[in-house]
Amino acid sequence: MKTQPIRALVLERQRQLSLREIDLPVSPRLGEVKIKVHTVGICGSDVHYYTHGKIGPFVVREPMVLGHEASGTVVEVGEGVTNLKRGDRVCMEPGIPDPNSRASKLGIYNVDPSVTFWATPPIHGCLAPYVVHPASFTYKLPDAVSFAEAAMVEPFAVGLQAASKAKIAPGDLGVVIGAGPIGIMVALAALAGGCSRVIISDLQPQKLAIAGSYPGIVPVNIKNDRLAEVVARESDDWGADIVFEASGSPKAYECIFDLPRPGGCLVAVGMPVNPVAFDVVSAAAKEVRIETVFRYANVYDRAIAMIASGKVDLKPLISETFRFEESIAAFERAAEGRPGDVKLQIRVDEAV
Ligand SMILES: [Zn+2]
Repeated sequence: MKTQPIRALVLERQRQLSLREIDLPVSPRLGEVKIKVHTVGICGSDVHYYTHGKIGPFVVREPMVLGHEASGTVVEVGEGVTNLKRGDRVCMEPGIPDPNSRASKLGIYNVDPSVTFWATPPIHGCLAPYVVHPASFTYKLPDAVSFAEAAMVEPFAVGLQAASKAKIAPGDLGVVIGAGPIGIMVALAALAGGCSRVIISDLQPQKLAIAGSYPGIVPVNIKNDRLAEVVARESDDWGADIVFEASGSPKAYECIFDLPRPGGCLVAVGMPVNPVAFDVVSAAAKEVRIETVFRYANVYDRAIAMIASGKVDLKPLISETFRFEESIAAFERAAEGRPGDVKLQIRVDEAV
């Protein structure tokens, strides 16, 4: 693969970022496109690599370019590419599976053991002026979707994957535990996917206020109210059809099976750092269906279509936009974890 030094946001090691030149691929090969990056969102995982130098088994051992939530414009098309052309506005799915793997053949390429994912060590991310990416994981944007919204497709895709796994029926009552960026994405995807209402819980009033500004989302501060009581009240003591756990907090699991109705569903979206206890009997007594989510597969085109149609409005979730030259300051701000910040973005291309 031909590489060339390009100025990028590089995580040198834990707690040390620099904007400097680093060798990255520059020309698209068979089936690939080169994209001029426009906007990149900062994800919790980027921040975690910055502050901790690792996530579980993924350890930053050598300098790595951060970022995986990106939009941009195709500037060069490799041989064999038919779905895209120069000048197309696009967003990119950051996980690249082996197209011939057993998982890919089954349509579950997100759990392909050989998948590589932007900004997951040792794979470089997209906080650079240009990236080269497979055309089949690059999606053309309708005019109605801005570059900033397109850079939100990645986290929204997680919400959509959760909503798909839940198998929502029209009118379902949903519950989302945790009003962080992913919790809000899950709530919006659940509403757009057919829930009549979604109760969302958190401890942070600012996060709940942002979530609660969307019609159909009922915020519950668990400092003041018991979530199970609110769910019982809102469902005539029957329980919620779908419960999404999006906080990753071990405490959330303590009484989680008080929340779903008999025959309801629990979707585990958040990732607790350590194993959590699981009350098998409480789950079994209601025959709760349990689903898990790892990133997403085959939802990008749906996510883009939902944004374009106005079914979901992600714009209110963009808290602040930084210039590329301010990337390090943007990460420091993200690491502060201000409760009013949902999504911070970096506008890499300042020309457009
Ligand atoms: Zn992300």
